[in-house]
Amino acid sequence: MPELPEVEVICQGLKPLVVGKTIASAGSSGQRLRTFNGELAGWRLEGQKVLDVCRRSKHLVLVLSKTLLGLHLGMSGQLVWRARAEPRPAHTHVWLDFPGHRLDYVDPRRFGDIRRLNRPTVTSTGELVAGIERGDWDSWLTPSALGVEPLTPSFSAHGLYRASRGVQQAVKPWLMRGHVVVGVGNIYASEALYAAGIHPNRPAGRLSMNRMIRLALAIQEQLQAAISAGGSTLRDYRSAHGQPGGYTLAHKVYDREAEPCGQCGRAIRRLVQAQRSSFYCPGCQRA
Ligand SMILES: [Zn+2]
Repeated sequence: MPELPEVEVICQGLKPLVVGKTIASAGSSGQRLRTFNGELAGWRLEGQKVLDVCRRSKHLVLVLSKTLLGLHLGMSGQLVWRARAEPRPAHTHVWLDFPGHRLDYVDPRRFGDIRRLNRPTVTSTGELVAGIERGDWDSWLTPSALGVEPLTPSFSAHGLYRASRGVQQAVKPWLMRGHVVVGVGNIYASEALYAAGIHPNRPAGRLSMNRMIRLALAIQEQLQAAISAGGSTLRDYRSAHGQPGGYTLAHKVYDREAEPCGQCGRAIRRLVQAQRSSFYCPGCQRA
């Protein structure tokens, strides 16, 4: 499943390709996605210019001149930029045609989604994002409030610390709920806890301020490293250019059960928390 770094890489990759370009035509396979009913006809995307591409949590927003398009890649969604003459691959469910090129939304499992959202009445890029967050974009994302973006100044160790007081839940599933900080999915939660030396089973409410500072830094470093490397490569992920990401080799504990820890040599262990696998080093990560 694409996580925050992959979606950020797609967002950054898409911007130079589509911003300033005008949609010549749009089409769909007629197949349903999560809430999309397969029908683009009433959306009137033709003739609209792409003003910006934004990301909030793991959602992409194409800011068009009259509409916002919200896109979630689900489990297996890919956005692929191709020359218009190339054949459309199987499982392409939505496409936007631009002069000479087109943007294909390909999703074999169809757990992804595309939504048309109301245009907020704001002007500059930053204000647009804020407008999206206050408007129906947020209510589409999730019924409960989303946590802060981990790569913005509003994310801090103090914020994590305050939110965690009294929390009995283990720190890893607590982070992954996304209600305090968004985008810390399974890979990055495992890797950040390893980098911070914290056992994934430690109750969130029992982490000291010092350990929370290490954790907040580790989260930012893990996400930033993954973005710099082009995003993790998991099964179906592709960047906007169709290139696999390059961060998988850098995982230190994720999906490395029984392999030796690079720091202490003890075997990496796996445990299941909230139905998800957690990977950790019993030597380096204290409870
Ligand atoms: Zn170790």
